[in-house]
Amino acid sequence: MQQAQYQLIIVGGGPAGLTAGLYAARGRLKVLLVEKGATGGQVLVTDWVDNYPGFIEGLSGFDLVDKMTAHADRFGLEKKYATIASLDLAGEIKSVTLENGEVLTASTVILCTGARPRKLDIPGEYEFTGRGVSYCATCDGPFYRNQEIAVVGGGNTAIQDALHLTKFASKVTVIHRRGELRATKILQEKAFCNQKIDFIWNTKVVEVRGDKTGVDSLLLKHHRGDESVIKVTGLFVLIGIAPNNELLHANSLQTDEGGFVVTDEEMTTSIPGVFAAGDIRSKRSRQIINAAGEGAVAELSAEHYLGNKAPDTPLNCSEKD
Ligand code: NAP
Repeated sequence: MQQAQYQLIIVGGGPAGLTAGLYAARGRLKVLLVEKGATGGQVLVTDWVDNYPGFIEGLSGFDLVDKMTAHADRFGLEKKYATIASLDLAGEIKSVTLENGEVLTASTVILCTGARPRKLDIPGEYEFTGRGVSYCATCDGPFYRNQEIAVVGGGNTAIQDALHLTKFASKVTVIHRRGELRATKILQEKAFCNQKIDFIWNTKVVEVRGDKTGVDSLLLKHHRGDESVIKVTGLFVLIGIAPNNELLHANSLQTDEGGFVVTDEEMTTSIPGVFAAGDIRSKRSRQIINAAGEGAVAELSAEHYLGNKAPDTPLNCSEKD
């Protein structure tokens, strides 16, 4: 019978993928992590991480990713930076076809493709993306020094990023479609106490307006139906995430109504030998810490599926670990 090249291929190099990679490399599996951009996923553009255990003073998302990547590298995790064109997960040997035509095969796959920012899908949003409309406060905040800007959303991302944006902007107006925030209480308290942050409640942004120089205003619709215009030069759309599941459509993998992959608590998906971890999973809390934890669980499940048959590797008695 044909042999797979790898025991495990990990698709995606955010905290879930890097942790799965660390465990697999330490477990001496023949493993490959495939990542299309830089490792780190959404954490790479997270301004500050204050709740990752062990980092008492907090650290930037960039630094956390750097440490996670270095940690996996220390155990020799093989990585390939390439875009995947298609996945065939059905058979006993799974294949991963890259855009350059190269085909990689493995006995197990862990899906760690993560999620991306959701869009409002309103007039002007796409036209002004990169010219006043942004989905990343860490990336684009510094462009709005001493300007009046708006954030749409009421979750942890919106409020945490609104706070971050006050380092640059003269005023940040948070526009939320309901009358209360979804964000955790400590972030709410900080935002309510911040002199630079204003709130507009029960209101939707229905149009982004501007000219060739960029955004100059937003058309708002309040819950009673009346409309108003607010003058801002930037809009940060921070309304949650959508799954990066495009590669999964051709595979009959069970997903929830939002398109996130359904797993059991061992990270097992509906296809034997295929596991999922991190933001691509159907779940309620999406934290860096649970993405990392799920990566570990998924890898241990893959090892269990493989029957713990790591290839014979020569003993290296000089290694500490
Ligand atoms: P989220 O928790 O899903 O919140 C999305 C927010 O956007 C909600 O307030 C929602 O309003 C609003 N919204 C959704 N669709 C909208 C639309 N079409 N128009 C206007 N408003 C819309 O998303 P998130 O804040 O990006 O957080 C995602 C996950 O990451 C969460 O699990 C969160 O806890 C986690 N996270 C954690 C941290 C941290 O631990 N420090 C930081 C950031 C994110 P409603 O409230 O009305 O639904």
